[in-house]
Amino acid sequence: MQPIHVIGGGLAGTEATWQIAQAGVPVILHEMRPHKQSPAHHSEHLAELVCSNSFGAQSSDRASGLLHEELRRLGSVVIGKADEHQVPAGGALAVDRGLFSRDLTDTLASHPLIELRRDEVHQIPDDGVVVLTTGPLTSEALSRDLQRFTGQAYMSFFDAASPIIVGESIDRDIAFMASRYDRGEAAYLNCPMNREQYLHFWQELCAAEQAELKEFERETAKFFEACLPIEEMARRGEDTMRYGPMKPVGLFDARLGHFKDPALKDKKPYAVVQLRQEDKQGNLWNMVGFQTNLRWGEQKRVFRLIPGLENAEFVRMGVMHRNTFINSPELLGATLQFHQRPTLLAAGQLVGTEGYTAATAGGWLAGTNAARVALGQAPLTLPVNTMMGALIDFISSAEPKHFQPMPPNFGIIPALPAKIRNKRERYGHYRDRSLDDLTTWANNHKLELRSPSLVAT
Ligand code: FAD
Repeated sequence: MQPIHVIGGGLAGTEATWQIAQAGVPVILHEMRPHKQSPAHHSEHLAELVCSNSFGAQSSDRASGLLHEELRRLGSVVIGKADEHQVPAGGALAVDRGLFSRDLTDTLASHPLIELRRDEVHQIPDDGVVVLTTGPLTSEALSRDLQRFTGQAYMSFFDAASPIIVGESIDRDIAFMASRYDRGEAAYLNCPMNREQYLHFWQELCAAEQAELKEFERETAKFFEACLPIEEMARRGEDTMRYGPMKPVGLFDARLGHFKDPALKDKKPYAVVQLRQEDKQGNLWNMVGFQTNLRWGEQKRVFRLIPGLENAEFVRMGVMHRNTFINSPELLGATLQFHQRPTLLAAGQLVGTEGYTAATAGGWLAGTNAARVALGQAPLTLPVNTMMGALIDFISSAEPKHFQPMPPNFGIIPALPAKIRNKRERYGHYRDRSLDDLTTWANNHKLELRSPSLVAT
């Protein structure tokens, strides 16, 4: 049988390669390190953790913990080795990064069906089944070829993203739905500010602490000129934001009366923060124009000063960094196959799932499906009520115009039939439904699941 080619031995590529080999299909894993290093990697090992050594919270009623558990039950080699090389980290699944990556490298290298090839791939191979997992720092030559294959408009090289907030955590007594000048359907949630609130917010934003930029991010900062961080805009003058993303004109709270009523003049907001719907269900809201380089803790502190966002629950913080990713909603199906070539699959940060565990999840599905394609079997789609399924569903069906990478979170999972106010209780119900659905799905597809090992805190 022709071997499958997996390109990129990071988190997604390592998991994909293992799943292919475990399905009995020969596989060649291409990794450019150590001959060529990315600007963030330092070692020659597979699945190197480029920054933090943590896979996120472990408790199974947290989004990352649920994803760990789903992957564990599905026989993920990455999560299996993370469990083996765990180090104490409060409630998080953190690992000894050296032991973890070395063990994964040895494990893959000693599998009889895996060939580990240390080379940089410049072009997508024309023939056979191929899985692309080259991550946020895909080498230049392959990025160019991907651009050729997908069309220029479907590639992003920088991530200038605003924070995303869970809709349920926004105070709807303060925030109001409206579109500017009442044009079309009321599509935005608007958080109004009076002058005093605005000035306090402006001062805090100017003084907030920035994240330190990496050398390669500093080099690429010039690309962001057309897309200024909100704190930089604030520093340019007291009113700059009020002429930019916080422009108050044409926005009226219909609950206060008709906008042409002269009595409403005094109630006009001095500034407005707009939130745009991020997902089909309206569970997630994106702060329009709030791309930022502030430290994550500072973002939470300062953005919670905005009226209506006092208790905001953030699922993704604002970022501005180098990040190669494709416009997956246009290009990929929920099986992680490209529409234009079903024998080409992709996973990891390259397709817009964010973080180590999410990359592993995509790697599991892309590897499993690549093997199924090679064996002439129908590829699988994950149940959407699982965290893995919800993530893949999001990246393959989000609104393509505003597509940004997404980490695991409960905002992307379909709502429960009944509303549960208590957050921990609600997340517990999501977990139970997810794991039940995973079991049913696995049984239907005759997949073997490992024993449960729920972590609760
Ligand atoms: P990677 O793990 O990056 O793997 C891609 C692999 O492909 C690399 O080994 C690379 O060498 C190889 N490669 C690239 N091009 C080629 C080619 N042409 N031929 C052959 N091989 C190639 N996520 C977190 O969860 N926590 C963090 O703390 C965190 N910090 C980050 C810090 C930085 C600076 C960056 C850029 C990202 C960070 N991320 C973090 C996101 C992180 O990139 C992903 O979580 C994860 O590494 C993605 O896995 P991946 O498999 O998609 O890509």
